[in-house]
Amino acid sequence: MNQIAVNLIQVRERIELAALAAKREPETIELLAVSKTFPASAIEEAMHAGQSAFGENYVQEAVEKITQLAKLRPWLVWHFIGPLQSNKTREVAEHFDWVHSVDRLKIAERLSAQRGEFPNLPELQICVQVNVSEEDSKGGVPLTEALALCDAISKLPNIVLRGLMAIPAPSADVQLQRQAFVAVRECFQKIQATRLSDPAYQFFDTLSMGMSDDLEAAIAEGSTMVRVGTAIFGKRDKISK
Ligand SMILES: *Cc1c(COP(=O)(O)O)cnc(C)c1O
Repeated sequence: MNQIAVNLIQVRERIELAALAAKREPETIELLAVSKTFPASAIEEAMHAGQSAFGENYVQEAVEKITQLAKLRPWLVWHFIGPLQSNKTREVAEHFDWVHSVDRLKIAERLSAQRGEFPNLPELQICVQVNVSEEDSKGGVPLTEALALCDAISKLPNIVLRGLMAIPAPSADVQLQRQAFVAVRECFQKIQATRLSDPAYQFFDTLSMGMSDDLEAAIAEGSTMVRVGTAIFGKRDKISK
């Protein structure tokens, strides 16, 4: 078995143990394999080990790999998780299935209009990125503004509002990790409760949080999608974040 396949088994085991510890069904947590900086061949290896959802951060690099792997498209689901500038939204609207990093209405409006130019594609699945660490560099809307942004996005055509995403500041302290995830989960649940009967929120079911070093804490606090790079593909070179 190759290393990626072995790593995937270990990561799935971590997810399962964390879910059981939190008295949750392991199947309610999806694993997103973050393949930024790794070549298409690594994605193929992961796919052969049963992985289908992949996360990418850099538009140019991602589109190259998506194009190289076009034949495998029926099995692959592509998630854009990196910072997104206006001038890159068209490529994302054309090539991706999901975008986790929407933190401004203008970006959502562009994705909505540009997705509309591809009538054969299904609606683009969108998560609003929230900022829980007051860390500007990582982006994200403040928790207090998340509902208003979600409301505006939920009305746009060609996209579906799926939930929230967060990248808390890294911490070796599990208690601090959990505090940040609690804040995101509470915001998520409050939005769900406030918009319970709103059809624009009927697919608002995704809490995208947790990475290689803190997926246990994220799952303990309700994550439904963990984004794992290093623990699957190994250490990245320095161009990565
Ligand atoms: C790189 C990245 C990840 C994966 O991080 P690892 O620590 O390698 O698991 C997850 N989410 C986002 C937004 C990333 O940029």
